[in-house]
Amino acid sequence: MNHFTYRNGELCCEDVRIQEIAAQVGTPFYLYSSATLKRHFTAFESGFEGMAHQTCFAVKACSNLTILNTFAKLGGGADIVSGGELFRALKAGIDPKKVIYSGVGKTRKELREALAADILMFNVESPQELDRLNEVAAEMNSIARIAFRINPDVDPKTHAYISTGLAKNKFGIPVTEALQEYLRAKAMPNIEIVGVSCHIGSQLTQIEPFIEALRKVKGFIAKLEQAGIKIKYLDMGGGIGIPYDGEQPPHPIDYATAVRAELAGLDCTLILEPGRVLVGNAGVLVTEVQYTKANRGGDKEKHFIIVDAAMNDLARPSLYGAYHEILPVQEPAQDGAEQEADVVGPICETGDFLAKDRLMPSVRPGELLAVMSSGAYGFSMSSTYNSRPKVAEVLVSGERFQVIRQRENYDDLVRGEIISDLE
Ligand SMILES: *Cc1c(COP(=O)(O)O)cnc(C)c1O
Repeated sequence: MNHFTYRNGELCCEDVRIQEIAAQVGTPFYLYSSATLKRHFTAFESGFEGMAHQTCFAVKACSNLTILNTFAKLGGGADIVSGGELFRALKAGIDPKKVIYSGVGKTRKELREALAADILMFNVESPQELDRLNEVAAEMNSIARIAFRINPDVDPKTHAYISTGLAKNKFGIPVTEALQEYLRAKAMPNIEIVGVSCHIGSQLTQIEPFIEALRKVKGFIAKLEQAGIKIKYLDMGGGIGIPYDGEQPPHPIDYATAVRAELAGLDCTLILEPGRVLVGNAGVLVTEVQYTKANRGGDKEKHFIIVDAAMNDLARPSLYGAYHEILPVQEPAQDGAEQEADVVGPICETGDFLAKDRLMPSVRPGELLAVMSSGAYGFSMSSTYNSRPKVAEVLVSGERFQVIRQRENYDDLVRGEIISDLE
């Protein structure tokens, strides 16, 4: 359920006409619904009521300070994967005691910053990282709380690029080698073992892989206990999918129910790292049609709708062949003509498309389109490729809207660059 609906023939976000925002802010822009963000967070949380748990939003899904602050105010923590994300999380008012640091390539500088902030725990992903963290913590006279990220070798049945819990993926430590690493960590003076973590992938549409991974982690926790290592936190990562194109991902409540049943009797605080499920359907990318054209080749006529947003603004279609529904902001007539077209951007790459061979109502230059379900891995994955300034981000709450990130300008594009005086 989201708050993007047609009213009187116009697509609105909550009580604001998208056309009205476009007139003031220009296009393209990302648009988020505050009510949807809050609703998704609260719905997700409600499944775990009465159970010791902490929800840590995966910052990489949507990193705007307002979005992070919205979740912070509801009690949310953060799952971070870089020093930059730590900076954002703290700036947005997230309690460092609710911050988890994941990722395979943490630098010394990043480890120092996170130790200085006294975050809840590091999800360590390799033996070398453990050694480095122990050294850095010793230099700082502090103790690093850790979990190891276990790679349970479970098939999440999702896109190959976003599967993370298979033995062939770069993430985590094989479950078969993990005990030995826990024992090593136990002997380290500047390390405190507090958890076990796993994250098997993203955009999962079934519950079973989660439960299969959880079962393996549970078995492993029992092994740790036999070895005299007591675990406080079980971090099961994120990964619940959302409907983009009629998928039927598990409802967060059903997911919670299954997790609860699997964890019954286990004396651990559960940590959850949802990203996409909280923000995906809370955001859209609004773009303006620039041109339409038909290219005739052979016996086929191919139609293109050329818009002012591109793969640098929303990478998912190019990167994963991802499907995003595209709706005209002016509601098309019920019996209006439709035509198959590619919706493409201005970038000089054939891979620059937002939709391929899509049945679209006939649209004219100047009309607005909303690329739906773009709240997750949308703006946060955007770049300035082709020297295209990053677009604005806007939040709607009820009848009001606010720009929460200004559109970049040309000076932003060259900030920090110099024309060298070397020969
Ligand atoms: C990306 C990521 C998440 C969030 O994944 P979603 O599919 O967006 O829920 C959670 N934890 C870790 C470690 C991640 O890398």
